[in-house]
Amino acid sequence: MVVGDISTGTDVLVIGAGPAGYVAAIRAGQLDLDVTLVEKEAYGGTCLNHGCIPSKALLTASDVAHQAGNAEEMGIYADPAVDLEGMVGWKDDIVSQLTGGVEKLCKANGVNLIEGTATFDGENTVRVSHGGEGQGSESIDFEHAIIATGSRPIEIPNFAYSDDPVLDSRQALALDSVPDSLVIVGAGYIGMELATVFAKLGTDVQVIEMLDDALPGFDRDLARPVKKRAKSLGIEFHFGYGASNWEPHGDGIRVEAEPAGDAAADGGQAVEEEALELDAEKVLVAVGREPVSDTLDLEAAGIETDDRGFITADDRARTNVEHIFAVGDVAGEPMLAHAGSNEGQVAAEVIAGEPAALDYQAMPAAVFTDPEIGTVGMTESEAEDAGFETVVGKFPFQASGRALTTGHTDGFVKIVADAEAGFVLGGHVVGPEASELIAELGLAIELGATLEDVASTVHAHPTLAESVMEAAENALGQAIHTLNR
Ligand SMILES: Cc1cc2nc3c(=O)[nH]c(=O)nc-3n(C[C@H](O)[C@H](O)[C@H](O)COP(=O)(O)OP(=O)(O)OC[C@H]3O[C@@H](n4cnc5c(N)ncnc54)[C@H](O)[C@@H]3O)c2cc1C
Repeated sequence: MVVGDISTGTDVLVIGAGPAGYVAAIRAGQLDLDVTLVEKEAYGGTCLNHGCIPSKALLTASDVAHQAGNAEEMGIYADPAVDLEGMVGWKDDIVSQLTGGVEKLCKANGVNLIEGTATFDGENTVRVSHGGEGQGSESIDFEHAIIATGSRPIEIPNFAYSDDPVLDSRQALALDSVPDSLVIVGAGYIGMELATVFAKLGTDVQVIEMLDDALPGFDRDLARPVKKRAKSLGIEFHFGYGASNWEPHGDGIRVEAEPAGDAAADGGQAVEEEALELDAEKVLVAVGREPVSDTLDLEAAGIETDDRGFITADDRARTNVEHIFAVGDVAGEPMLAHAGSNEGQVAAEVIAGEPAALDYQAMPAAVFTDPEIGTVGMTESEAEDAGFETVVGKFPFQASGRALTTGHTDGFVKIVADAEAGFVLGGHVVGPEASELIAELGLAIELGATLEDVASTVHAHPTLAESVMEAAENALGQAIHTLNR
C-alpha cells in the first residue's frame, strides 16, 4: 500500500457498472451482502450509454422519419425534415434517465459506489485510481470479486478510431449531422442496425463484409428478409471483401477493400475479384468487440484468460480463482446485455451460497433491423444434431391480419419441437416486433411447454402474437389460417 492511501474492505467487489456489473451488485445487495461497485466512466456501461439503448432510440426515430415520408399507401403525404442534433438530444435524455435510475437503484440496495479504475494488486486486493494525476487512489480488500469490465470495439489496421472520418459504433451514435454517404465495415448485427438507421435518415450506405453474407451466425432463412429489405432501403453490399485502407478524396474519403479470398459466393450476390474503391463522407468500422481484460493486471490475482483475452468462467461464473467471478462481455459469448445481467445475478447468488447456475438453453437474441430478428433455443438442424426427431411449424406474417394493418408483412414465425413429446425446442422469428414475440417462445422452452400448450393458449385478436399460436397449430397440422403441411 502506498503511504497516504485509504484502505477499505468489502464482501463483494464488483468491477464495472454495465448491465452485468450493476445487476450483480444490486442482487448481491438484495442478498444482504456488503457490496462495493467500482465504475471508471458511466453507470450503465456500454449498453445504456453507447450500445443497446442509444442504437434502439435512433432506430425508432429514424423509422418514424422514414415511415412518415413513405406512407402514401396509407394516404399520408409528408416530407419530414431530420435534425440529427435534436434526435441525438432526445436519445441522450433517455440515456440519462436510465443511468440516473441505475445509480439510485444501486444506492437503494445498499451498494457502495466508487468512481475510479480498478486493477488487481493481489488475490484479495484491488487498487482503485481516481481520475487523473494527483487524484489519488485507494486500496480495497475483498472476500469475493466479480469482474464485469465489458468489451470495446476491435480496431482494424489502418482504421484508427482517433482519425476523424473513421467512426466506431459509439461515435456513430453521437454524430451531430447526417452524413451524405457512409461506408460500413462489417455486416454483423451492429453494422446492420446502424446501416438501417442511416439509410432511413437518407444516407447513401455501402457495406463491406469479409464473409459471403450479412448477419453471420444467424440462420440464413432469418437473414434473408433483412438483407432484401436493406437492399430496398438502398443499402449496397460488397461481400467477400476486407477493408484495407482509406485516404482523403475530394470532400470526403476513399475506402479501399481487398477480396477476402476464401469467401464463397452464395450470399445472393456474386463476390467480385478486383480490389474495391468506395467513396464516402465517413467510414464506420463494426467488425466485432474484444474484452476489456488487458488493463486489469489479472496476473496479480492469477486469473486466466483464453487466447483472445476473454476471462474463462464456469457454469457458476467462477474463474480459475475460486472467489473471483467474471460476467458479461469480458467472459465471452453470448456478448449480449441480458446474458450479462443473468450471469451477474447468478454470480451474486453463488456468492450468497444459493444453488444458482448458468443455463443458456433459453437465451434469446434479438436484432433490431427492419424486419427484426428474434431467436431462442435450437434451430431445426441443431435439434437434429442433438438427436431429436423434430417437427416444425411456420406462419408467415403475410397471413396475419395485424401485420397487414401495420404495413409490415415480411417474415415469419418458426417453431421447432420434439416430434414425439411435442416439447418446444426452438423459436425463430423474423418480422415486425420479432424482438418482443420471441419472449413467448423463450418462456415456452423455459417451462417445458409443448406445441399443444402454445396452440391451446388463446391469444388476443388481432395481434402479432397470434402468429406464434398459428405456428404451433401448423406444427400440429391444425392451422386455421394457413394450409397445413
Ligand atoms: C452499438 C451496440 C448495440 C448493442 N445492442 C445490443 C442490444 O440491442 N441487445 C443486447 O443484448 N446487447 C447489445 N449490445 C451489446 C451490449 O451492449 C453488451 O453485451 C453489454 O453492454 C455488456 O455488458 P457488460 O456489463 O458486460 O459490459 P459493459 O456494458 O461494456 O460495461 C462494462 C463497464 O465496465 C467499466 N470498466 C471497464 N474497466 C474498468 C475498470 N478497470 N475499473 C472500473 N470500471 C471499469 C466500463 O467503463 C463499463 O462501464 C450492443 C452493443 C453495441 C456496441
